Amino acid sequence: AKANGKNTYTYFDFSFNQKLTEKIETQSELRKALERNEFILFYQAQMDLVTKKVVGFEALIRWNHPSKGLVNPDEFIYLAEETGLIVPIGKWVLHTACKQLKAWEDAGYKDITMAVNLSTRQFKDKDFVKQVFDVIEETGVNPKKLELEITESIALDDLDYTISTIQELKNVGVHFSLDDFGTGYSSMNYLKRLPVSNLKIDKSFLDTVMEDQCDQKIIQTIITLARNLDLFVIAEGVERSDQELFLQEADCDKAQGFLYSKPVPKEIAEQFLKKLD
Ligand code: C2E
Ligand code: CA
Ligand code: CA
Ligand code: CA
Repeated sequence: AKANGKNTYTYFDFSFNQKLTEKIETQSELRKALERNEFILFYQAQMDLVTKKVVGFEALIRWNHPSKGLVNPDEFIYLAEETGLIVPIGKWVLHTACKQLKAWEDAGYKDITMAVNLSTRQFKDKDFVKQVFDVIEETGVNPKKLELEITESIALDDLDYTISTIQELKNVGVHFSLDDFGTGYSSMNYLKRLPVSNLKIDKSFLDTVMEDQCDQKIIQTIITLARNLDLFVIAEGVERSDQELFLQEADCDKAQGFLYSKPVPKEIAEQFLKKLD
């Protein structure tokens, strides 16, 4: 803090302290949240753009906070990442999502996929691969239906580690997706070396796609690139039918967004599955 007059200094210090206190409080609440069963997974439908049917879900965590109600991940994931709590939380997410996927498989929805977000620490944890193997064994889920999402920045941080980790899991059938694609420092050079199966086009390109020729060209380029590298493409944040139409014409494989469904509890997600019967 700069001391440009005593009052400013005191005021700044106060709000800084308050923020810090709040942060420490949230971190200690987060520590108890797992054992108190306060986390819940919501599921957002992913649609096939050709058949217009549900083909999978993305699991998205929520914190059912005793006084604040449902808290979104953007408000606590970074804190959990800072303290390392993200590792046990991430394990819980993976386990819960796989258990759900297995239940849907057992109910007859054998082709449904489940996408799970990975954090940096979780992916870099030395036990990560074993963790995934264990969850697959414990839940009995079909590994081919599991899609693990990492961002470009996680993937690029240590390319050799990333490639060998993905490859080990790919050997048992698990797929990987590059999340928020296009927002990082994508380069053709690394993309062709990464054994990922899917690219997820970031919502920011979709937001203005109908007004912005440049965004249209970017999306078309990502899809063409994906085709050449034998990858599937999924567009995120689809809110309107004009965006959907554009994506269908651009030959995008799948779409996810409020146009189809917000992230919802499992009971509501199941209503989407029943429509497949
Ligand atoms: P993400 O992985 O990019 O997830 C997509 C986010 O966009 C979700 O926000 C979703 O609710 C939102 N979204 C989907 N469709 C639309 C749309 O049409 N319009 C708008 N405006 N938004 C849409 P959410 O659930 O708040 O998650 C935010 C971020 O938190 C995720 O971004 C992901 O990075 C992280 N996250 C969520 N769950 C987990 C988790 O279990 N583990 C980890 N490590 N991170 C998670
Ligand atoms: Ca994601
Ligand atoms: Ca994303
Ligand atoms: Ca995001």
